[in-house]
Amino acid sequence: MTEKKYYKTSCAHNKNCPVYQGSLVLEEISTSLIRNVFCNRGVRGWKNCERFKMAEEGVDIPDTATPYSNGVKIMV
Ligand code: SF4
Repeated sequence: MTEKKYYKTSCAHNKNCPVYQGSLVLEEISTSLIRNVFCNRGVRGWKNCERFKMAEEGVDIPDTATPYSNGVKIMV
């Protein structure tokens, strides 16, 4: 298996990501903070994001999935 190479700092999945686009909002965590911690931080940030991991694995991503593995509520 070949290791993927990443050259950008912004997540390649951001255009289709409801968290990045702000349509899925988390309680007490702003979209801009999510972007800084996960999305625009290069591979170090992306690899901590559960949505990113699912996208890279090619599995279906639940509509309500967040970057966090658990314990974070979304706004409805
Ligand atoms: S890092 Fe995660 S939350 Fe950010 S755009 Fe990529 S998949 Fe979405």
